[in-house]
Amino acid sequence: MATGLAGRSVIITGGGSGIGRAAALAFAAEGARVVVADIDGDRADAVVKEVAEAGGDAVAVVGDLSEQHVVDQVARTAVERFGGVDVLVNNAGVMDRMSAVADVTDEEWERVIRVNLTAPFLLTRAVLPHMLAAGRGAIVNTASEAGLRGSAAGAAYTASKHAVVGLTRNLAVMYRKQGIRTNAIAPGGTATNITVDVVEGAHGPAAIRPLLAGAGRVSRPEDQAAVILFLASDAAEHVNGAVLPVDDGWSAV
Ligand code: NAD
Repeated sequence: MATGLAGRSVIITGGGSGIGRAAALAFAAEGARVVVADIDGDRADAVVKEVAEAGGDAVAVVGDLSEQHVVDQVARTAVERFGGVDVLVNNAGVMDRMSAVADVTDEEWERVIRVNLTAPFLLTRAVLPHMLAAGRGAIVNTASEAGLRGSAAGAAYTASKHAVVGLTRNLAVMYRKQGIRTNAIAPGGTATNITVDVVEGAHGPAAIRPLLAGAGRVSRPEDQAAVILFLASDAAEHVNGAVLPVDDGWSAV
């Protein structure tokens, strides 16, 4: 597969762990130059070191991506260090507490929506001027099985990931004439560091648990990263607005 990613400037959020880390290593192995954006500085630095040891080029930007000044720093770093933004991977995300609406606190709702939805919006808005000026760009969002169905997580996470799917499709339509493609992956269960702080007494987990029986095999972060890389690559030149399940058939059940 000809990816065309060598020398390209790539931003990966949540690049310090799990799917984002695997994506950072995969893009760097293709010769792309990677901004690893993460709230966890130790993890981001470790990935930058891994990339460098493999002969690649990466830089870390540390901070909460739901804050505008961090977003601005990420975009600025890509432009100053790597000459622009060719690819944006909006991947950072947090899980909710599997709560049904009656049990969702304001704090849980705000945190999940800000990280999973507002942060991708802010960063996409920040990089679009650079992609528009270049007349090309690829955006890949990490949605979720919970962006496709109502029975894979709690209310806040489910709403945030359905919104990521909507944002993906709207971007695809709005910018297709300007050479910018936007797609998403919808991972099923993947072995990462994401944590689920379940409220056992809540209605949500009890209602959902039997439905999770239809889930496919748990994937490795590398399995998800391979599809992100494909969607960002020249091989997917005619793929725009797709939301690709990477879930071993769970969404087909
Ligand atoms: P992970 O916890 O291993 O990695 C997520 C990374 O995002 C972490 O390094 C974390 O520090 C970073 N992050 C969290 N909040 C941040 C913030 N506010 N600003 C900057 N960085 C922040 O988890 P993962 O499973 O690799 O998650 C990646 C994406 O995959 C998420 O969007 C998640 O919702 C999605 N996803 C995961 C699964 C799964 O089963 N693991 C399934 C479907 C979707």
